[in-house]
Amino acid sequence: MQEELARIKEEAERDLRHAANLQEVEAWRIKYLGKKGLLTRVLRGMGNLPPEQRPQVGRLANELRAWLESELARRHEALRAVEREKEITSGAIDVTLPGRPLPRGRCHPLTQVLEETVRIFVQMGFAVAEGPEVELDYYNFEALNIPKDHPARDMQDSFYIDDEVLLRTHTSPVQIRVMEQTAPRVPVRIIAPGKVYRRDDDATHAPMFHQIEGLLVDRGISFAHLKGTLQAFVEQMFGANRRMRFRPSYFPFTEPSAEVDISCVVCGGVGCRVCGQTGWLEILGSGMVHPRVLAMAGYDPQEVSGFAFGMGVERVAMLKYGIDDLRLFYANDLRFLGQF
Ligand SMILES: [Zn+2]
Repeated sequence: MQEELARIKEEAERDLRHAANLQEVEAWRIKYLGKKGLLTRVLRGMGNLPPEQRPQVGRLANELRAWLESELARRHEALRAVEREKEITSGAIDVTLPGRPLPRGRCHPLTQVLEETVRIFVQMGFAVAEGPEVELDYYNFEALNIPKDHPARDMQDSFYIDDEVLLRTHTSPVQIRVMEQTAPRVPVRIIAPGKVYRRDDDATHAPMFHQIEGLLVDRGISFAHLKGTLQAFVEQMFGANRRMRFRPSYFPFTEPSAEVDISCVVCGGVGCRVCGQTGWLEILGSGMVHPRVLAMAGYDPQEVSGFAFGMGVERVAMLKYGIDDLRLFYANDLRFLGQF
């Protein structure tokens, strides 16, 4: 049987040398490596060998197979090169035609807005922080001054893993995680972008969306610092002559709290359909960090103070580009995405 393998190898070598084109190479492959090929026949015959000879013959047969396959690949490649050369020189392929341009991708509009926002705050000295999307009830609610029976939880119904674990409803838990790690040192100066989840689904709400959270804690921080920081952001994001106003509001984890509006990007403040004739568009929530939140995270509210804000990336993108349906961001329609 070993002699037969040697003979097959010899014959195969000779045959392959004579194969002049790809069809003949294919016929060669079938003859030696095919299902009914010579090598397969040898392998089938191994059952008739005495058991002590099988391992050695098996090894030789495998070596022959590897050799046949590598010879095949080499011959194939050589013949293909020859045929390609022939196509080019015969003019079947016009090598002077201009190439097909490759379509170049770009970042999704939400990524663009998110990166732009981060860039603006990083430039002001904020560092980027991140936290888990699967979050403990403690960080998502309790430590933000939202105990179990608090009505504010109704507005942030989420997807629960179990009673104490949920998909985070906002990026605010990152505030707590960062403060816990930093306390009692100051300053804390972070921006926390990321995905958040709520049980909502309509033209202006999606079950998954993006927020950017900001937090600054230091000695002597006042509401004026919050205003100045947000003013600088709004001017860079929406243009230098964008006006801004603070409306008193309520969040459990800030006191006082304010919602921030900018003059309408569509009508410039005169009043139109987009702004509901008010001339203003709401862009984010903000406030001074609640003393109880500072204390729970390990800071002395007598010593330090801070401000926090949170904005929806989708909302900022909708305002910046005048988009009226949030679902467009997730439909993956290139006619839409190609505009940014
Ligand atoms: Zn308007």
